[in-house]
Amino acid sequence: MKRINILGSTGSIGTQTLEIVRDNPDLKVMALSAGSNIEKLEAQIREFKPVLAAVWSEENASALRTKVADLPVRIVSGMDGLIEIAEMEEYDVLVTAIVGMIGIRPTIAAIKNHKNIALANKETLVTAGHIIMPLAKEMNVSILPVDSEHSAIFQSLQGNPGNRLEKILLTASGGPFRGKKREELAGMTVEDALKHPNWSMGKKITIDSSTLVNKGLEVMEAKWLFNCDLDKIQVVVQPQSIIHSMVQYVDGGIMAQLGMPDMKLPIQYALFYPDRRPMDTKRVDFFKLGQITFEEPDIEVFEGLKLAYTAAKGGGSLPTVFNAANEKAVAMFLDRRISFLEIYDIIRACMENHKIIQSPNVDEILSSEREAYDFIASKWGV
Ligand code: NDP
Repeated sequence: MKRINILGSTGSIGTQTLEIVRDNPDLKVMALSAGSNIEKLEAQIREFKPVLAAVWSEENASALRTKVADLPVRIVSGMDGLIEIAEMEEYDVLVTAIVGMIGIRPTIAAIKNHKNIALANKETLVTAGHIIMPLAKEMNVSILPVDSEHSAIFQSLQGNPGNRLEKILLTASGGPFRGKKREELAGMTVEDALKHPNWSMGKKITIDSSTLVNKGLEVMEAKWLFNCDLDKIQVVVQPQSIIHSMVQYVDGGIMAQLGMPDMKLPIQYALFYPDRRPMDTKRVDFFKLGQITFEEPDIEVFEGLKLAYTAAKGGGSLPTVFNAANEKAVAMFLDRRISFLEIYDIIRACMENHKIIQSPNVDEILSSEREAYDFIASKWGV
């Protein structure tokens, strides 16, 4: 029996993780958490019977306590609640399917509690990779990638211990606006940006895919997960999303992981690594597919990737500012307060305004986030 706790169980990754639990009776859910969707969380509590569940506000926690008063589950709230889930004794793997930098503290708490992490929450590694990775090593804890590209890289590394990498080839679909010119991007609406060609995901990551910020975050995530120099991570646009990423060894040999675009495979691989379990999902039909094509990303138009490389090269607290500015800008775009291209303007302005702190601790990471939010409020009035 493998016991799992899920942060963000009501979201896209969280619900797909629970589908895998449904299919595998030797997985047991011990704790669940959501932001505010207490109706969905209640249904999950009734089905999966965790002993602990968390929501963000105490008001929602109190409402949920009333709803599930007939069940032996304790309801907690806020950051303390997330940390309590991470610090529980009786579980094996923490699935971090929460969105945003809010995942940093609970992830650190779980590592200190000697629990393996199935990591979807890329923002945590982007902003605090310099804390998370050495701590995981010290605690002898595995950080198992859930992001499809990083899972593909991880899978492509299997069976090659000690062999030197020449580069990581991180694939990208190019998002819904691939091939568009900058002038065309100016008028793109929320609805346009939410139409991802291949993947069905949460709103924030779908917008990040349309700006290529997501690919930038993934470059930084790959740097930390695989201890790889930035100049050895190359983004390759592969619009069919069949090759999920590749690694090239020093002899020029390339190993890739292919499959249909479906997050259940990487989630399940992280939960059962190194075992592969049967999974009843669609298979690639190469004859129907016909072709797999490749392009270079246009980083002048899709500035999100270019800004991400600047942030990653600047290092220290700059990736935090990149990420925080993006989180806020995406929320503003989804609220229809700014245009699509202003997402880039906001990230760029925040990065230019920031004085980098080298090797920031968690408090400094969070104060850099605050500084970016305050700067945006002073310039954009939100
Ligand atoms: P969603 O927006 O679908 O889900 C986010 C989850 O986090 C929800 O359960 C949400 O609860 C919860 N949450 C939000 N705010 C809080 C809070 N303050 N306290 C506690 N819980 C909170 O996101 P995704 O599942 O798409 O993405 C999750 C993470 O995984 C992100 O970091 C993303 O980049 C990464 N990822 C996602 C992929 C995908 O296919 N979706 C692929 C690869 C990586 P509520 O429902 O109540 O709002």
